[in-house]
Amino acid sequence: MTNDIYGPFPGGADFLHGLTDGQRARYEELGTNLEVVERRIADACAAAGRARDEVTLIVVTKTYPAEDTALLAGLGVTDVAENRDQDAAPKAEQCRNLPLDWHFVGQLQTNKVRSVVRYANHVHSVDRPRLAESLAAAVLKSERPELGCLVQVALDKAHGEGAHRAGVAPEDVARLADTIADTPGLRLDGVMTVAPLAGPLAGDPARAFDRLAEIATAVRTDHPAATMVSAGMSGDLEQAIAAGATHVRVGTAVLGVRSPLR
Ligand SMILES: *Cc1c(COP(=O)(O)O)cnc(C)c1O
Repeated sequence: MTNDIYGPFPGGADFLHGLTDGQRARYEELGTNLEVVERRIADACAAAGRARDEVTLIVVTKTYPAEDTALLAGLGVTDVAENRDQDAAPKAEQCRNLPLDWHFVGQLQTNKVRSVVRYANHVHSVDRPRLAESLAAAVLKSERPELGCLVQVALDKAHGEGAHRAGVAPEDVARLADTIADTPGLRLDGVMTVAPLAGPLAGDPARAFDRLAEIATAVRTDHPAATMVSAGMSGDLEQAIAAGATHVRVGTAVLGVRSPLR
């Protein structure tokens, strides 16, 4: 029998049947890790009095091979994220027949947007009007439907501070949200952050994510459909869920520690 883990999606027992011994071992390892993460998410939801289905797990597959992405799809993962187009584009191409929703979460140069809009349904890292403009132009040139965009918030950034670091200052979120919402081809889906490593909120993800929640609420006042709050990674997903995150982005806890060389 052919061993095509890249689909068309076989699912269930047929999927397992097609695996080599090495793939089966990795499948089991990923399955165990996913169970641990699933338990953490369920416990955090319960502790926060939230329904489990209010939180979507996005598995961050960066630095890992397309084969892992396919195994994750076989394990029922529906959402995956990447942060570098050079790695993501070939992986997404290889996995194109799998039922996966691709999220882009990394710093994005405008010369990469034409590639990114071919596979990504959501870009979490929109942090400047020029990028929104460029994404919109690429969407309109392609046949694809609207692209979901999240404003990346840098909680430790000051108003008007330059673009050398990813994300916009909290004070600048509303204006960029309006720009995205007004741009044909783009859909404003919400806000995203990474807990800051510097500034007054460093080392306090709970407070950082509470601050993001306030910002998300303010954005929804003008844009009620922008309901995505993307926050929380392997080390702080509990704090993010407690603060109202709707999407957690988990890499290490599912796939293992990434090689520092990559
Ligand atoms: C790598 C990455 C993650 C996942 O981080 P882990 O600590 O491995 O869970 C989440 N969000 C972004 C933006 C990332 O680049």
